[in-house]
Amino acid sequence: MPIKYTDILLRSCTGTPPKGCRYCDRGTKMVLYITGICTQSCFYCPLSEEKKDRDVIYANERMVEGPDWMDQVMEEAHRMNALGTGITGGDPLVAPERTEAIIRRLKEEFGRKHHIHLYTAAIFEKDILARLKDAGLDEIRFHPPIALWTREAYERPGPAKDDIDRYISLMSEARRLGLDVGFEVPAVPDAEGDSYSQGLYDLLSWAAGTNMKFVNVNELEASHTNMEEFARKGYELVGDSMAVEGSRDLAWSAMDAARVDHPDTSTVFHFCSSPYKDSVQLRNRLKRTANVCAKPYEVITEDGTLIRGVIVTDDPGILMGRLHDQYDIPLGLMEDREGRILLAPWVLDEIAGDLKESCYISEVYPTWDGLEVERTPLQVPP
Ligand code: SF4
Repeated sequence: MPIKYTDILLRSCTGTPPKGCRYCDRGTKMVLYITGICTQSCFYCPLSEEKKDRDVIYANERMVEGPDWMDQVMEEAHRMNALGTGITGGDPLVAPERTEAIIRRLKEEFGRKHHIHLYTAAIFEKDILARLKDAGLDEIRFHPPIALWTREAYERPGPAKDDIDRYISLMSEARRLGLDVGFEVPAVPDAEGDSYSQGLYDLLSWAAGTNMKFVNVNELEASHTNMEEFARKGYELVGDSMAVEGSRDLAWSAMDAARVDHPDTSTVFHFCSSPYKDSVQLRNRLKRTANVCAKPYEVITEDGTLIRGVIVTDDPGILMGRLHDQYDIPLGLMEDREGRILLAPWVLDEIAGDLKESCYISEVYPTWDGLEVERTPLQVPP
C-alpha cells in the first residue's frame, strides 16, 4: 500500500517527497538514536545533554540498554506499530556493527517493506555501505560538515578538497548499490564574521547538477545545548518558537537558486520547518502510538495525548473492590499502577466528591515514560 502524505509536506517539496519523509509525515516512523557520539562538532548541534557525546541508545523517548537492547527496540516499534525507522544520532556510522545489526533485526521482525533511512556526517569505510544495504537499509542522508559546502572548498586542492572527494565517492558508491541518496542539512543564516549562506547555495546547486535524488533542508532550531553559541552569533528566534530568524528564507532562496541554475534537474528539494516537526510529525507519531496503546479507560485527545482519572491510595486492591461493588465500575476498566488507581476520567469526575482519597485527572504522553502534561485536581482542598 503506498504511503500517503499531508498537504503540508507536499507544499514544502518541489516534487514527490523523499520516501523517508513520507513515513515521518504520517507519524509511522520510529526515531532511533543509535549513539550520541559523532565525528563532527557542529556549533548548531541540537542534541540534548543526555545524548550528546554519550554512547546511549534511544528508541523514540525510551532509553534502551543491556544485552537485550534490540528486543527493547522491537518492543518500542510494536508500541507504535511502526512502518519504518529513521536511524540517527550522533552518527550511526560511528557504530556501524550496531547499526547493521539493528537494520537486519528490524527487517526480520517487520518485513522488507519496513522503510529504514539513516543520517550520517561521517567519512567511513566504503565497504560499510554494502553491509548496510545487504542488511536492508533503504535510504541514506549525508550531512557533510558546513566548512565543506562551498564551491571554493570544492575547487581548491588541500585537505578540505580531499574530504569532499571522500564524501562524493561514498555518495556515488551508495547510489551504485541502489540506495536512495540525499543531503540533509540545516539552513544556517550568516552571522557577524561568518558567512554560511554561500555554502548552502553551492551545496544545493551541486546536488541539482548531479541529479541527487533529494535534498532535505531543515529550518535551524535552537536548543538548550546550542542556545549560548546562537546568542553569541546574534541569532534571534521567530516569535516564541525555537526556529532561528532568517533560516526559512535562506532555505527557500537557496532551493530556488539551485533550480534556476539547473532547470532540468530531477533533484527534489524539501524544506522541513521547525513547527512542522512538532505539529505534524511528532503529533502524528503520538496519535498513532496512542491508538495502539490506549487502555479502555483512557481518552485519546486530538494531540495524541491520553487522559485518565487517578485515585491516590495506600490500598488499591481494596478500594478497587469497593468501587466495583458500590458504583458498578467493571474491574477491567480500572488498573492498579504503583499505589494509584487509574480509571476512566468521566467516571472519576462523577464519583470524586464521595471519596476521601486524593483524585485528579491526568493528561500524559503515550510515550514509554508516560510524561505528564497536565494534572487537574478534582476535589477542592478544605
Ligand atoms: S553532524 Fe549532526 S549529530 Fe553530529 S555534531 Fe553535527 S548536528 Fe550534531
